[in-house]
Amino acid sequence: MHDYAAGYGVNAGCGLPDVSGAGRDEYCMRLALHEAERAFDAGDVPVGAIVAKGNSVVGRGSNRTVRDQDPTAHAEMLALRDAARALGTWRLDDCTLTVTLEPCAMCAGALVLSRIQRVVFGAWDDKSGMAGSIHDLLRHPRLNHRPQVTSGVLADDAASVLRRFFRQRRGLTGDDAVESHSRTDDHSPVDR
Ligand SMILES: [Zn+2]
Repeated sequence: MHDYAAGYGVNAGCGLPDVSGAGRDEYCMRLALHEAERAFDAGDVPVGAIVAKGNSVVGRGSNRTVRDQDPTAHAEMLALRDAARALGTWRLDDCTLTVTLEPCAMCAGALVLSRIQRVVFGAWDDKSGMAGSIHDLLRHPRLNHRPQVTSGVLADDAASVLRRFFRQRRGLTGDDAVESHSRTDDHSPVDR
């Protein structure tokens, strides 16, 4: 396992360092990558997410679609639920969700419903992404809540863990069907 969170004390507590802007986004993305690695190790497509409020991480999620045999068990959904449970409210309007891959339609919809203030994502997903790739549900002008969106944070790291996963799976299964999901020329390999 590649420990993206090494040196960041990810297991030591929920505090975020007192940095702002890009440094903070990258820090949160490393925590999300750590969650993605957890999915990888368990055989799920490696996507991870965290929710931060102020200087605290209040929610975490790693994709569990295969483990739970649940099509809704995407990292973002689990992190949102985790955060809402921790904060005791469904409204996450002062929170930021950071996810390694551009959200799909389901997750983009849930993010809008949660009133989340900000969404940060890593790699683009040109097959399923609904934050600009296929469509931009997060910032649809007809919706009454539009989170701020920052894209491309540590995108190479986020795409690389996905490529590594599909390469390994192809090696193990010899399944040509995953070939289309394991291209190395982009960052959109996902059928979770
Ligand atoms: Zn999703």
